[in-house]
Amino acid sequence: MTKAVYPGSFDPVTNGHLDIAVRAASLFDELIVAVYDAPPKHLLFTTDQRVELMRQALGHLPNVKIGFFTGLIVDYAHKVGARAIVRGLRMSSDFEHEFEMALMNKNLAPDVEVVCLMTAVDFQFLSSSLLKEVAQLGGSISNLVPKHVAAALKKKYSLPEESVSRKGG
Ligand code: ADP
Repeated sequence: MTKAVYPGSFDPVTNGHLDIAVRAASLFDELIVAVYDAPPKHLLFTTDQRVELMRQALGHLPNVKIGFFTGLIVDYAHKVGARAIVRGLRMSSDFEHEFEMALMNKNLAPDVEVVCLMTAVDFQFLSSSLLKEVAQLGGSISNLVPKHVAAALKKKYSLPEESVSRKGG
């Protein structure tokens, strides 16, 4: 039984993350989506909220579990018995950072492989940070996140009912 972990901040989860998770779940017997408890960046959603948004998006997949981790992802991978860490790659700018992290993780845990999946072309320019910026300004994000995530963003930013699905200005 080959297990993998897919770690990330997921603040919040986007269709780009979900695409990677669904594809990774088809490659491994079990995929544990691991929400990074305290990444070194400002967060909009709490860990519980990020886990819950992820659970609502992926809970229907029988071989996917949702968890969260504190500390090193390689320690979490060992704890849950995962052989691989899955990451998603967008444009070249992701590559350098992911490569650096993969080498560091390999140094920390030579028995854990890092598997990178290329983003689907539709999500190439989708990041949680840009998504939040657009959502805060009331732009349309309905094709970029599941409905419950759009609703959670709307609530966070206290936007009126029709926002986050409104096109343009
Ligand atoms: P982190 O803070 O660990 O970078 P993110 O939540 O931003 O966490 O992303 C988690 C993983 O998903 C990373 O490997 C990231 O490159 C990948 N990812 C983020 N957005 C996309 C996307 N639009 N398409 C494919 N992979 C993505």
